[in-house]
Amino acid sequence: MSLAYGRTTRAIPGPSMIPDRVLRAMHREAPNIYEGELIEMTATIAQDLKRVARTEGKVAMYIGNGHAAWEASLANTIASGEKVLVLATGRFGLGWADIARGLGIEVEVMEFGGRAAADPDRLEARLRADTGREIKAVMTVQTDTASSVNNHIAALGAAIRAVGHPALYMVDCIASLACEDFRMDEWGVDVMVAASQKGLMTPPGMGFTFAGPRAVAAREALTRVSPYFDWKPRHNPALYYQHFCGTAPTHHLYGLREALDMIAEEGLDNVIARHRILARTVWAAAEVWAEVGQIALNIADRADRSVAVTTLRAGPGDPARLRRWAEDEAGVTLGIGLPLDASLQHGGDLFRIAHMGHLNPPMIMGTLGVVDAGFKALDIAHGGGALRVASETLAEAMAAPADWAISAE
Ligand SMILES: *Cc1c(COP(=O)(O)O)cnc(C)c1O
Repeated sequence: MSLAYGRTTRAIPGPSMIPDRVLRAMHREAPNIYEGELIEMTATIAQDLKRVARTEGKVAMYIGNGHAAWEASLANTIASGEKVLVLATGRFGLGWADIARGLGIEVEVMEFGGRAAADPDRLEARLRADTGREIKAVMTVQTDTASSVNNHIAALGAAIRAVGHPALYMVDCIASLACEDFRMDEWGVDVMVAASQKGLMTPPGMGFTFAGPRAVAAREALTRVSPYFDWKPRHNPALYYQHFCGTAPTHHLYGLREALDMIAEEGLDNVIARHRILARTVWAAAEVWAEVGQIALNIADRADRSVAVTTLRAGPGDPARLRRWAEDEAGVTLGIGLPLDASLQHGGDLFRIAHMGHLNPPMIMGTLGVVDAGFKALDIAHGGGALRVASETLAEAMAAPADWAISAE
């Protein structure tokens, strides 16, 4: 008998769960786009986005998804014919690389295999060998949403600086902003891209680029930038419509304003600590499931795991059966497996549990309970007692808040 009744749960890595507060903020008539509240609100949104990214740099907002932000980041910094180095740890670095190729940029991929984080030593060695300084940018993701790798952005940035290489450091935080610790200025990141529908808890439809001084200078050095993606007018709009090169995404702005208020009320450090605790809870359950049968965490090393999404391996066909059961019988949508290479095929032996954005203990414990019940209902071999261990992990983590304090790092 199906119990898929009432409120459904999207445990997928974007769009994430949208808070009722955000939905309510968007439920309004079309606002005045010439004067008043919307105009003033847009400036506060830009300020608060920079706060979340921990940067004094410039932010440009686009009507578009993460792919639009990918394209914008490259269109403003790298000329056709120039070369970039992409660190691949799953699918998403490769997706950004595809956009670069489409813009006529030469792409070199450094492959790390989708089961572990990018190695700063390999990056450092490659940059040392680039004596002609042909590499104009190093591009990586913080959370690779396909593999659930967490790349160590500070360490990779340190490797670039150790060589004294002038390449721009460009980081995709689409799945990790407002989930994982990220400090654009402190870590030497020149360009960061983000989107509205993951940690920022707002419907898909807005993409963001953040640019430090070196990236702003790179834009100035280009002779031509496609007008829609040009971030220059968006950085310094003389007229309101220049924020968005046309009509503003009015309702998204109201939603995003509310989401940023929620992040500020909770405190960014607490938001990150909450993600870390809930991720530990998911890992605790998954590590027990993995003791029996073919279930496994895609990333073995905890230090290399994203706090926003967890990719699991299972026997052939099992992820599809589990996802179907969770959706139809329990109202929980689990993430599909994505390929961890350049193919666009579904990763048939993978599935994902997202734990990003608007999420609390009953929501994540509910999802873990449904996955656990699904294994049993479908006779998928798994270690028993995962929920008990998850609840112990949760209780212990919540009792020791100092262990999770970001500012103490
Ligand atoms: C979701 C995601 C993207 C793509 O975003 P879209 O809005 O689907 O275009 C890019 N990079 C990462 C890391 C993502 O998680």
